[in-house]
Amino acid sequence: LTITNVRKAGGNSIMSLSKEGHKALSRQATIEKHLLLALDQKNLNVLYQPQLDIQTGKIIAAEALVRWVDESIGVVSPDELIPIAEETGLIHSIGSFVLEQACQQALAWQKEGIPLKVSINVSIREFRDKNMARSILETLERTKCPADLIQIEITEKFALEAESEGAIMKQMRQLEQEGIVFVLDDFGTGYASFRYMQLLPLKTVKIDATFIRSMMQSEKTEQLVRGMIQLAKSMQLTILAEGVETAEQFDLLKGFGCDLAQGYHICKPTAANAVKNLYYQKA
Ligand code: C2E
Ligand code: MG
Ligand code: MG
Ligand code: MG
Repeated sequence: LTITNVRKAGGNSIMSLSKEGHKALSRQATIEKHLLLALDQKNLNVLYQPQLDIQTGKIIAAEALVRWVDESIGVVSPDELIPIAEETGLIHSIGSFVLEQACQQALAWQKEGIPLKVSINVSIREFRDKNMARSILETLERTKCPADLIQIEITEKFALEAESEGAIMKQMRQLEQEGIVFVLDDFGTGYASFRYMQLLPLKTVKIDATFIRSMMQSEKTEQLVRGMIQLAKSMQLTILAEGVETAEQFDLLKGFGCDLAQGYHICKPTAANAVKNLYYQKA
């Protein structure tokens, strides 16, 4: 265990770790150990959450979301798993696994005549590997998945750090040239959203679920959401609303001219087969 891990778990030094600190620390160590095994045995899973074109009512894409149920630990949610994986470096293996699955799935759908793009989430740490772009392109080639079927979702935190790291920007541009599309996730929650809309090679921005959630209670938030949609459109960006849970939210967004929606109201993250059924149902 590193000192950083210990500090994160709540103590200033090993000697002063609280009971809770010890618990958190041993859980993290357990997760780390089991995750290594799970990755080795490809014992993780990917679910897909459909993205719907609000104006046509059709499913046009699906977001790949990692799932892990360990035999002894139980369910480890992405919100717990991803930070640990980022810290330990295991995020590279998770990323490769999810990308491979996503490519195979996108290709399988295409072969069935279902034109769905697949979105993957990537962490900044994956892009700090200077071979990241090449390894993505190699995976596309090996799986025979066309590049324009894959979208990469980055967060504002990613954008913030990428801006000052030329090597990351270069890799993003390289991937963009090959036909991969970038999506700004959790839009509005970071420090400098507007800046990145202008700086990065983006195609789509996803309005964070927190805005969609409070939009029905607050007139101000409602106007903010309306403004985000207009801003994105004026910049020729596709705009997606995340975390759409009710018909009321959906109808309001439709009225505002929002392009895409994702959320429990349309479908929870689900198995690839269920996405296929929903696609046909909406076709
Ligand atoms: P995200 O990319 O913003 O993904 C959306 C999250 O919101 C997902 O949680 C999804 O299940 C959840 N969600 C979707 N619709 C609704 C809704 O209507 N209501 C509510 N309450 N929640 C909804 P999930 O799968 O737990 O993932 C959490 C975060 O973990 C993701 O946020 C993403 O940042 C990260 N993540 C997930 N899979 C991966 C992965 O393979 N790699 C990386 N680097 N990060 C991942
Ligand atoms: Mg995402
Ligand atoms: Mg999000
Ligand atoms: Mg999120």
